[in-house]
Amino acid sequence: MVLRRVSVAGRRVLHMEASPAPRTASLSPSRAADFMQCPLLYRFRVIDRLPEEPSAAATRGTVVHAVLERVFDAPAAQRSARRARSMVVQEWERLLARRPELASLFADEPAEAGATAAADATEGAGDEPAVGASPEAAARLARWLTDAEELVERWFTLEDPTRLEPAEREMWVETKLDSGLRLRGVIDRVDIAPTGEVRIVDYKTGKAPRPEYAGDALFQMTFYALVVWRLKGVLPRRLQLVYLGSGDVRHYDPVEADLLAVERKLLALWEAIREATETGDWRPRRTKLCGWCSYRSICPEFGGTPPPYPLLVQDTLPLVDAGAGPAADAAGTASGSAADTPAEPAGETAVETPAGVPAGGARQAPEGA
Ligand code: SF4
Repeated sequence: MVLRRVSVAGRRVLHMEASPAPRTASLSPSRAADFMQCPLLYRFRVIDRLPEEPSAAATRGTVVHAVLERVFDAPAAQRSARRARSMVVQEWERLLARRPELASLFADEPAEAGATAAADATEGAGDEPAVGASPEAAARLARWLTDAEELVERWFTLEDPTRLEPAEREMWVETKLDSGLRLRGVIDRVDIAPTGEVRIVDYKTGKAPRPEYAGDALFQMTFYALVVWRLKGVLPRRLQLVYLGSGDVRHYDPVEADLLAVERKLLALWEAIREATETGDWRPRRTKLCGWCSYRSICPEFGGTPPPYPLLVQDTLPLVDAGAGPAADAAGTASGSAADTPAEPAGETAVETPAGVPAGGARQAPEGA
């Protein structure tokens, strides 16, 4: 624990805080994308580890990904759309058993719960709210399941699983760069041709982005390609994005220079994160993606106040001048989450944000640090 002297309601008091978290120099595409989208969002998720409300879109993505992984458990001839569709409810129930809090996504609204409770009281039934307990809640769950089934079914129009034997599914990968930075993540599917050529496949439950926003997803794929290249010594031949929401398949065939560029970009990004961690200077970056942020109530951009920064702040670190930060030209998206939201480009200024946004951002260093 660390003791700090802080001001609370105008009085100086001693405040006991958790010890600084050990710095784990590792980065996943999702967290890299968080920082590029908004440094304060990264802080809330990675440093403060604040919980988030479950999202129906992200949960649907998890269920769909589980079905597309398990569909390959069956012999090739049995991998039909009908069978896969029937697996959606099964995977939802399996997920719900692991994460019962997801029931809140389809629990009764207060008014519905009141009506249900009144009905239960007259019938002597229990008063525990359940998933889909009222007709309205049950209809919401049914619609959500149908949406997931349609996404699964659409996949069969884009790829033919009877002709595929993936080398890996939901493959955990991790590698350490020469700089010491670890890159990690989960690849949806890896196919290896008889010639040894590697194809990395990622499923998105959202729609294919417009070309000007395609860099986000491409960043995630080149991130994975870099990890595989460093890990196995094989340059992936093809990166394939399968957009189930719109029924599109996008390909990209990377060359060595692409992966070296993404490696430089990640090192620059990590340097920006390191500096923000040490200075406590996690500035919010307001974009239309804020509409999907769980932390609006504690975000200064929306009138909120973040909790005290839980790490020691090094005030002696110089701030970098605006525009002097490292550059990055794309942001990644997490499967099943940001993929379902409208994206906007995280342009050249994205990684510069910790030091490059105008004064008046949200520096939250605890007093007396
Ligand atoms: S609401 Fe927007 S600006 Fe605030 S933390 Fe979330 S993403 Fe960042």
